[in-house]
Amino acid sequence: MNRVSELGFSVPLSSLAATATDRRTFLKVMTLPCLAACCLHSSPAAALGISSAVEDDTRFRAEARFYEKLPGKNVRCKLCPRGCVVSDRERGHCRVRENRGGTYYTLVHSRVCAAHVDPIEKKPFFHFHPGIVAFSLATAGCNVNCKFCQNWEISQAKPEDLPARYMPPADLASLAKQNQCPAVAFTYSEPTVWNEFVTDAADAAHAQGLKAVVVSNGFIQQEPLKRLCRHVDAIKIDLKSFSAKYYREVVNGELQPVLDTLVTTRKEAKWMEIVHLVVPTLNDGDAEFRDLARWIKANLGNDVPIHFTRFQPLYLLKNLPPTPVETLERAKAIADGEGLQYTYIGNVPGHPAENTYCPKCHRLLIERAGFTVTQNHVRKGKCEYCQHVIPGAWS
Ligand code: SF4
Repeated sequence: MNRVSELGFSVPLSSLAATATDRRTFLKVMTLPCLAACCLHSSPAAALGISSAVEDDTRFRAEARFYEKLPGKNVRCKLCPRGCVVSDRERGHCRVRENRGGTYYTLVHSRVCAAHVDPIEKKPFFHFHPGIVAFSLATAGCNVNCKFCQNWEISQAKPEDLPARYMPPADLASLAKQNQCPAVAFTYSEPTVWNEFVTDAADAAHAQGLKAVVVSNGFIQQEPLKRLCRHVDAIKIDLKSFSAKYYREVVNGELQPVLDTLVTTRKEAKWMEIVHLVVPTLNDGDAEFRDLARWIKANLGNDVPIHFTRFQPLYLLKNLPPTPVETLERAKAIADGEGLQYTYIGNVPGHPAENTYCPKCHRLLIERAGFTVTQNHVRKGKCEYCQHVIPGAWS
């Protein structure tokens, strides 16, 4: 999960003024401390019909796509492996899905609590149209509870506890275009919990010639995953550890469904990259790095990019230090030794392992400085020097 720049909106939402017929509501929204604090792009947004904070949740409510009805007005959610059984008037674990009279609803369709323009490298995607920016969105809620969550203010909140914008799919696509973003990204919190909106919005983005990408924890059931793969252009999966114990104790999730997601996504999605956040003392042993690399090579192939990223002490793990760079270099060396071809180090700006090298001729192909691409020698999906095919999606 990439860290949100700040909670709220950093893209122009001047259309708020055009639609805020209730001046009191508009002023209340615009004076919320987290809004519009730093515009990355200054292009004016035309009147898009985007409304300000909405008290009535009917605009955000839509029947859930993956659930089954049970006796006694109960329902079973079939979106993620948690499989919540939810009684009438109760919510699932992720806090954003509610049973009302035996019908299950998402409460976050078109409900956007953060919107920023980010480089695609921040997600991180390194083999997906390097150098583009993505109109990046989040809603409240998550289906796991990582102790190291970088965006816990969003992911561990109920939707009604955060200021939000009503941003239906077509408006989102228009706003992305106005901000010169060739892609939209569903990120910061967990896209699975607003799956219906993600696929609807991806369709709207495609209709306007944009790409759609997802940054996910991979904790999703197979049927919604396969549908997601058909609707988006790239998926980045967090493989948070190769230990079932870690998933139970640090993530409050399960390892095996995430491994299943990786196999399915590799087969069915247009593009996939993997992130492994290395947390000191918890998942930084040589044996785990080796097992993880061997599993990836055996089950996904040796040319899937994997990013070993640096942990920063946040949320419930402030007692641990940031990951030493030497630990990340050790992880990369082990993965390289196992034969993985595209291994990266993340969250260490300026490190040479942020660059892409040709696995055949070993020349520098893509040079990065932080999230900025400074050189790109991939031509039509091949190394400019030796014509070796470099997997990915290239402009
Ligand atoms: S998506 Fe939410 S409600 Fe559905 S099973 Fe997962 S945690 Fe439970």
